[in-house]
Amino acid sequence: MGKQMSNADSGNIPPVRVLFGPSVRKTIPEEVRRLGAARALVLATPHQSDAALEIAEHLGALAAGVFCKAEMHTPVHVTKAAMAHVAETQADCIVAIGGGSTTGLGKAIAYRCDLPQIVIPTTYAGSEATPILGQTEDGIKTTLSDPSVLPEVILYDPELVATLPVSMTVTSALNAMAHAAEALYAMNRTTQTTAMAIDGLRAFVEGLPKVIANPTDIAAREATQRGAWACGTVLGQVGMSLHHKLCHTLGGSFDLPHAETHAIVLPHAIAYNARSASKELAPICDLLGGDNAGLALHAFAQQMNAPLALQDLGLEEIDLDRAADLATTKPYPNPHPVTRADIRTLLQAAWVGDTPIF
Ligand code: NAD
Repeated sequence: MGKQMSNADSGNIPPVRVLFGPSVRKTIPEEVRRLGAARALVLATPHQSDAALEIAEHLGALAAGVFCKAEMHTPVHVTKAAMAHVAETQADCIVAIGGGSTTGLGKAIAYRCDLPQIVIPTTYAGSEATPILGQTEDGIKTTLSDPSVLPEVILYDPELVATLPVSMTVTSALNAMAHAAEALYAMNRTTQTTAMAIDGLRAFVEGLPKVIANPTDIAAREATQRGAWACGTVLGQVGMSLHHKLCHTLGGSFDLPHAETHAIVLPHAIAYNARSASKELAPICDLLGGDNAGLALHAFAQQMNAPLALQDLGLEEIDLDRAADLATTKPYPNPHPVTRADIRTLLQAAWVGDTPIF
């Protein structure tokens, strides 16, 4: 297995300004000026164009334009269209409001022309806290890590995440928890990343039942956003393993939705690795009970009413062979040895929606 690259190894990671609080999005003009910018291009998905227009309204004369065509997995053709918009509007900074898809578009622009970015996250995916950019071209998703990609400012406004439907709240939370779970056994973990990962996991174990019971509980939403920041930060600082490899394959090559895929695969991947990393994964058992972190996560996902079967996302059973091939072609660091046969078995269980079998 090759050396596990820390995303921090790829260059110096500059400090990020992170603000939390209800209505913090309304400080956007101040944040744009603080960056020395005066022409902000606001990004969103088509679905969140209202949110983008609200931000443009707060920006007033500092708004150079609005581009609401962000898509999942950052297709390069969308980035090219956005780059034309950057040139046309002479934008000097990016404001991305949305989940990982919109953040991804902002990062793709920054990678190409190094504009400063302000991200206003509306999911728990955590992309805003990493220097990682995944892009898709001709059906192939590639990932890079570069300091220019890391946003300069993050505004976590709990009022925005309060509109996230409950089903997406659950899958997005499990997506964030997946970063922290794999950080626990990362080869290049430190005491600090482990402590942060545990904080992130705790924020969701305690906060998710509260936001499901009352989606507009702003204090609970803010607590879960702090969890998302912790989980995203460790994703940016240590190497990920089997779980992220499987989700990257399923998302990039089979176009499965990101958060749902993470939610379904997580208990299976963690149970697989618990055989070789039970000590490292013990904090998950401490938080959720039981003595197998994968089974504990499966029970938690069930209690939260998360999707459990890849077949429900539209993946065909016939695709499992190719997914197993793709996910095991290149070696990567993982606590438990990865074999093609074992991964095919894991995928079958995740496809059916069984309890993790390893
Ligand atoms: P998303 O950004 O694709 O959002 C899914 C849908 O939900 C979109 O239509 C969006 O407009 C809508 N939405 C988002 N927030 C909402 C809200 N508060 N209320 C109502 N609707 C809302 O989903 P995601 O899971 O956040 O992001 C997935 C993407 O992020 C993938 O492409 C993934 O690869 C990427 N990602 C990258 C990193 C990284 O570090 N590079 C980390 C995590 C995720």
